[in-house]
Amino acid sequence: MVDAATLQRLVEAARAARGHAHAPYSKFAVGAALLDEQGRIHAGCNIENAAYPESLCAETVALAHLVMAGGRRVIAAAVAGVAPEPVTPCGGCRQKLHEFASDDTTIVVADMDAVRLTTTLGALLPSSFGAGHLR
Ligand code: ZN
Repeated sequence: MVDAATLQRLVEAARAARGHAHAPYSKFAVGAALLDEQGRIHAGCNIENAAYPESLCAETVALAHLVMAGGRRVIAAAVAGVAPEPVTPCGGCRQKLHEFASDDTTIVVADMDAVRLTTTLGALLPSSFGAGHLR
């Protein structure tokens, strides 16, 4: 279980990452931060592209940073975005996170003022497909 102070640091890292978003088309900036098994935080922002399908989600960018830094597990994740509903990871990112996380991995969804939702990856991606299917 990740302590509240660490989750708060994760939220703050996601909010800071959101400030780096390249979102000239949607204007929808998102930041994400991931806590790895070594206690390190890896952040990412969404990176849009004029060829829209080539855009990257914040969670994907954060995951790339985690893996490149030698991390192999996502212990907790935070996403920061501003919308009427909590900005949860998209379906594709839920699957990408699943590769390095567990059903009980905490996912904190925040806007710039408050935490909007605290949930788990298993709640966001039930009956998921994973490495166990390929054995
Ligand atoms: Zn996504």
